[in-house]
Amino acid sequence: MKSHENYIQNEWVAGAGAREVIDPATGAPIAVVAESSREDVERAVAAAREAFDHGPWRRSTALERGRLLFRMAAVVGRHAAELAELETRNTGKPLVESEVDIADTVTCLEYFGGLATKVQGSTLPVPDNALNFTLKEPVGVAGLIVPWNYPLMLLAWKLGPALAAGCTVVAKPAEQTPLTTLAFARLLQEEIPELPPGVFNVVTGDGPVAGRALVESMGVDKIAFTGGTETGREVLRGVAASNLKKVSLELGGKSPNIFFADADLDAATDGALFGVFINQGEVCSAGSRVLIQQDVYGPFLDLMREKTQRITLGDPMARDTKMGPVVSAEHFERVLGFLETGKKEAKLVAGGGAARVPGFEKGYFIQPTIFESDNQARIAREEIFGPVVTCIPFKDEEEALAIANDTPYGLAAAVWSRDIYKCLRLVKGLRAGIVWVNTMQPCYVEAPWGGYKQSGHGREMSLHGIEEFLEVKQVHINLSEAPIGWY
Ligand code: NAD
Repeated sequence: MKSHENYIQNEWVAGAGAREVIDPATGAPIAVVAESSREDVERAVAAAREAFDHGPWRRSTALERGRLLFRMAAVVGRHAAELAELETRNTGKPLVESEVDIADTVTCLEYFGGLATKVQGSTLPVPDNALNFTLKEPVGVAGLIVPWNYPLMLLAWKLGPALAAGCTVVAKPAEQTPLTTLAFARLLQEEIPELPPGVFNVVTGDGPVAGRALVESMGVDKIAFTGGTETGREVLRGVAASNLKKVSLELGGKSPNIFFADADLDAATDGALFGVFINQGEVCSAGSRVLIQQDVYGPFLDLMREKTQRITLGDPMARDTKMGPVVSAEHFERVLGFLETGKKEAKLVAGGGAARVPGFEKGYFIQPTIFESDNQARIAREEIFGPVVTCIPFKDEEEALAIANDTPYGLAAAVWSRDIYKCLRLVKGLRAGIVWVNTMQPCYVEAPWGGYKQSGHGREMSLHGIEEFLEVKQVHINLSEAPIGWY
């Protein structure tokens, strides 16, 4: 079994303790990683601080940083097959999905490589005899805290803009899924050894210890966090109690996927299932509330139930597997708990329990599950983050919008209809950061990602994403040589 240390200043450094990493398909340990203490995290922060304040990185040009990101993208591309396998081994997601994640990781690093040279300030038309302009500067040392559902890809969403902007970073992958981040660090060490020490550091370990230490560190200037809404609250408390560092938060969701009666039934039911069951439902933007116009409610639900039977659960490494296990024993129990709650408060339509997969008896597999309820049930309000969907009927456009927006979250939403007027009215009325029409889940690095309401602060990816890692400096130059003459 492979053993990994923290990656600090381009070297492998032992942490205070050790933690086993589990393959969720078998329940067996597959690696050991460092369990970092607060001191371990501070060591990584000190390395990133030194690299930012005094290292050659600070003098690097945007073009050099852009080229470096292109090289990082090429490294990931060359090792795509092994990284995809490792991602699947560690998360349980089907290999075909990991392959897409790794390809998206490459695209993201390339996009921000190209963007590095497009960071620009502006000239401002202030009155008086003066010149006023802005400079965009890196925010400093960035702590990147990543969840377990898309480990390497979500790291790239943060690392790409951070490095393009000129920041140095300390990355903290989720305790369950650190392996591709560590493999990426090893590849950089071998294939881009001239990356200045301290620019990219990785510490592994427990969220409430290592993650919290990063959040509270006085040496960190910015936290880019993706994770649950409750953890997001903790992050804000830690930031408020320490140095008021900048924060961006990508949090949870309970996204509505809204189907009007005039939508094509076959395409719509495909969209309802793909919207929630991809990646075992472990997707922040999962369409976990399916709102169906009552005129087609019966046939829609029947077709959803029928198509759900076709979802093959199995060995995540097998190419025909459509759903793997959820990520951990703890998460498995949590999702099963929601299934029990759902059976009490709602009507079960399909699934409803753990799934038995021959050869993987100890894996954390859950049947894709469909419930019917109203929007007040717990299963319709709380983020389950597993293969569970709640179907809710609605009468008309007004009621659909009211139900859709009746949630503390606001990450994403989708609307399906052939009537473009109706779609666009919904687009304007939905309180969500991403709205899809006649599709759900496509995600592009060119377009911003982030939530309204309790789904977060700030945006990742796109031109907006890099702004989260930049400070804006106003420069005002007096062009008049006369004294002020006030006193
Ligand atoms: P989580 O909040 O438990 O953990 C996320 C990360 O935060 C992990 O690295 C964890 O170690 C760390 N962490 C935990 N406690 C911490 C603390 N007190 N201080 C600092 N860091 C801490 O989330 P998870 O279970 O790994 O991921 C699932 C959640 O992530 C879901 O709610 C999902 O919606 C959300 N998510 C959001 C997006 C988005 O783009 N909005 C994308 C993916 C996942």
